[in-house]
Amino acid sequence: MSNELERALEDIKETAELIHGHGWGEATAGNLSVRLQGKIAFDKSKFSELSDRYENLAGKTLIITSSGSRMRQIASKNTEEYCSIITMNDNGTGYFKVNNFEKDPSSETIAHLMLHNEYEKKNPEIKAVLHCHPDQIITLLHLTTFKTKEAINKMLFSIHTEAQLIIPDGAGFVGLKKPGSYELASAILNELKKREIALIEKHGCISVGKDLNDALDKVEFVNKAVKIYLEIKKLR
Ligand SMILES: [Zn+2]
Repeated sequence: MSNELERALEDIKETAELIHGHGWGEATAGNLSVRLQGKIAFDKSKFSELSDRYENLAGKTLIITSSGSRMRQIASKNTEEYCSIITMNDNGTGYFKVNNFEKDPSSETIAHLMLHNEYEKKNPEIKAVLHCHPDQIITLLHLTTFKTKEAINKMLFSIHTEAQLIIPDGAGFVGLKKPGSYELASAILNELKKREIALIEKHGCISVGKDLNDALDKVEFVNKAVKIYLEIKKLR
């Protein structure tokens, strides 16, 4: 196993543990992915066709948590059992599974592919995508005041001065969409073209980063600001 792959699997394990510890990965909630630099041998007989073309991902390898995997299991057991590795074909229209990591990737794989495809071209340093279900973010988006990114960002930037450092472009807002749908993936891509975290109504949030720690920083920061806002609201 290459050093890069070993490090990425270790990062997935550590991040899953943190998400589980925060309580943001109930049941099979949440999914993580990392785009690798190196090549990994794949099985040519295990090919899946995609409905779109991800031209910037041609030949690229990605690790994605497997469909139905639980954060608590990823954190405590062998990552091979809960992570899928896929290598895109030469024109980006499908992927091959890598032996020993051949479980089906997350039901949100399309959102992950769209984001990796966007960032591979725009900012190749961004290599990780993280989705989870933070309680306070979900609570906030139930309030009728917070159905736009303008309202959300006005609040976030008024709560904590470090918003400027950690989420300089603010957070995006994705309205109610069916989990795992193409519609949800497209709405996420649209929001994350201009910023690195988006909040999803009645669902959670999704962020990107140089690595999973960097992606998790943004989620922790936003959820903490939201938590403080909700506490202040109770006092007033
Ligand atoms: Zn989710």
